[in-house]
Amino acid sequence: MQSILHAYAEQGIKLTLAGKRVKNINFRLKPMTEAPFTSLLAVSYPYQMPKPVLLQSLQNRLPWAIDCQAQLLKKRQSCKHPRQRRYFNDIAQLQGLTLDSEVYLAGQKTTVQALFETCFNDTDFGDTDIASSLLGIYRFWLTHFISNEQSYWQDKVGKSASKITPYTMKTRWGSCSTNARTIRLSVWLAQFVPSCTEYVLVHELCHLLEPNHSARFWGHVERVMPDYQQWHDTLQSANASIDQH
Ligand SMILES: [Zn+2]
Repeated sequence: MQSILHAYAEQGIKLTLAGKRVKNINFRLKPMTEAPFTSLLAVSYPYQMPKPVLLQSLQNRLPWAIDCQAQLLKKRQSCKHPRQRRYFNDIAQLQGLTLDSEVYLAGQKTTVQALFETCFNDTDFGDTDIASSLLGIYRFWLTHFISNEQSYWQDKVGKSASKITPYTMKTRWGSCSTNARTIRLSVWLAQFVPSCTEYVLVHELCHLLEPNHSARFWGHVERVMPDYQQWHDTLQSANASIDQH
């Protein structure tokens, strides 16, 4: 008996044995954090079971327990580190995407295939350059967004840009040249819910009132978009900063 307990202990599995009024031997593996053990195997067996048969059953179960424990640990690991949403901020990241890859447009998760079918009204994309087509979709979305939203937000801010253009930027969501009154918005914004893009537009327009990040600047942002913090945080936790004034 000692050697079988030892064999389990070596795998980080603690055994508890309980003779019960049951018909069959029963094994249940649970996670456990009592060092040096990582799981607990609770075994209940019939009172009458001869000891050699019990030992043999325990011996036979060892590979199953090891496998079961590995699965438990894997599950626990993935709970601790939930898979992060994957947002791009660099064309290089689009290389290697396949038609099955998950991507986001306007906050909606989809696959490259489904997105292309909607956008290109076709189904066969075997020869399609995925990276440049996806970038084209993001740019197209943002161009539309700008033409639909520009005047609404300019009115609310009280300042107008001379030009607002989509731009492929790696580290910033937007930028504003206060002298020329031009604004650039990152094409990668197209991946997020539209409120995020609205926020960056508001942010850059507010730089036409205040070129810095002073309390007065944030006061303007909040006046125009009271719930801006949420969208700010979403973008901050992705992979670029808003701008660098
Ligand atoms: Zn700024």
